[in-house]
Amino acid sequence: MKQLFAKTALSAALLAALSGCASQADVTAPQWEADKAYKITILHTNDNHGRFWHNKYGEYGMAARKTLLDQIRAEVEAEGGTTLLLSGGDINTGVPESDLQDAEPDFKGMNMLGYDAMALGNHEFDNPLEVLRKQEGWADFPFLSANIYDKETGKRLFQPYQIFEQQGIKIAVIGLTTEDTAKIGNPEYIGDVDFRDPKAEAKKLIAELEKTEKPDVIIAATHMGHYENGNRGVNAPGDVALARYLNEGDLDMIVGGHSQEPVCMEGPNMYNKNFKPGDECKPDNQNGTWIVQAHEWGKYVGRADFEFKNGELRMVSYDLVPVNLKKKVKLADGSKKRVFIQNEIPKNEEVMTFLTPYQEKGQEQLNVKIAESNGKLEGDRNVVRFKQTNLGRLIAASHMQRAKADFAVMNSGGVRDSIAAGDITYKDVLTVQPFGNIVTYTDMTGAEVMDYLNVVATKPIDSGAYAQFYGISMTVANGKVSNVVLNGKKLDPKETYRFTVPSFNAAGGDGYPKISEHPGYVNTGFVDAEVLKEFLEKNSPVDVNKFAPKGEITYL
Ligand SMILES: [Zn+2]
Repeated sequence: MKQLFAKTALSAALLAALSGCASQADVTAPQWEADKAYKITILHTNDNHGRFWHNKYGEYGMAARKTLLDQIRAEVEAEGGTTLLLSGGDINTGVPESDLQDAEPDFKGMNMLGYDAMALGNHEFDNPLEVLRKQEGWADFPFLSANIYDKETGKRLFQPYQIFEQQGIKIAVIGLTTEDTAKIGNPEYIGDVDFRDPKAEAKKLIAELEKTEKPDVIIAATHMGHYENGNRGVNAPGDVALARYLNEGDLDMIVGGHSQEPVCMEGPNMYNKNFKPGDECKPDNQNGTWIVQAHEWGKYVGRADFEFKNGELRMVSYDLVPVNLKKKVKLADGSKKRVFIQNEIPKNEEVMTFLTPYQEKGQEQLNVKIAESNGKLEGDRNVVRFKQTNLGRLIAASHMQRAKADFAVMNSGGVRDSIAAGDITYKDVLTVQPFGNIVTYTDMTGAEVMDYLNVVATKPIDSGAYAQFYGISMTVANGKVSNVVLNGKKLDPKETYRFTVPSFNAAGGDGYPKISEHPGYVNTGFVDAEVLKEFLEKNSPVDVNKFAPKGEITYL
């Protein structure tokens, strides 16, 4: 019912816009009563990244989330209130069982959970646009983004906003996507897509809405990241910058994503660094706008209870509700055990019945052992984006060997997880390399290689652009590369060298030089995860020490 009504309201607005008629008294007049207090609850999640299923410890998962959502909705309804469920985007990419099925279980699961709208995240562009359009078809809620345009036609590619009417209160939800998508999305698929400044688009759209729809409440569902006090480093401006850029209180709330954090504040512009699941969480407030984010993977459902009275929206309470998260406790015998932080939330049976065949189908293909190792292969983003690691180097080595190259360059943002010591399955491989990038190589002169290295080897740490290397050593100092040694010899500017780089970076991704049009460029057609799988198979048992960095890349 809610969906139907909202769509009717939207088409009325579109008609009004098309006919150039700005005022539609019947459509825009407030329907709420003066001096009456209305209860509105905004529920939110973000960065699902393929986690439709619970993890091996029974944490999170859509089936338990459904039970929790139903409980909250019943509670709110019993008090005469209404709810809206929003997602901050990045439904795609991260778990092979989901990735292999184009996140079908995730999107159809979101229908069952009753999502009302989502922001488009950068990872929605990891696949060709046709896949995203197919996913839009599966979803019975809109994919929102006001700042994504077709380069050629100059027209928006997605629905910019959706109007929801609840209890006579008109709520506009606008969608915004990080401009960084242009840099971190797969360039093969987004060449014709223009990611414009979301701040400017939001300002423009809000001004339009104030004239046409006259919403009582405006919420932005964004995928831009929350950065403490707006300190975004190399990232594009996020939610804090957005709220500060707009007029005070233009936005009532930002439901965010992308930085994958529980946004819980200690004080103004200061994170609560000690936040643990189950603790009280104070969301951020910037320039009169509440900013919330529910970490990642459906670990929490964010719940913001508001009171609406005489056109004013006031937050009454906020909670990040853990979804079956566990903590480790020490037992009397000294061993450790994982226990639920709060009472276990039962899994919704209907959702389980729906998701199980997808999970089984995915697992069949993935749980076969392909190799084993004698230690951990390090791919944690807090390590691999900061220094050379055995896994970053091993992946680079696998590309180098497949392309018979002299050296290999691997972006650390393409290394998505670690591999634990012991048995390795195809699932482990796909978790590390979920993007389906193609191994490419390029033959270049030593002089060209130097220019290339001066760009890629000087990318900042703590970014996905930070490069892992294999088969090469060098010194990096003051934004310049020197002492480059290849095949045991100093780099010769006149010699020709071959190196590999993922297709994503060859096309200019991560701000790497675009080399896909270089005369020496070859797209091998080999998918990265398959190359890695075969390399692990051939080198099993894998000696992790063989790939450990030994000072090849020296940063001064
Ligand atoms: Zn993201």
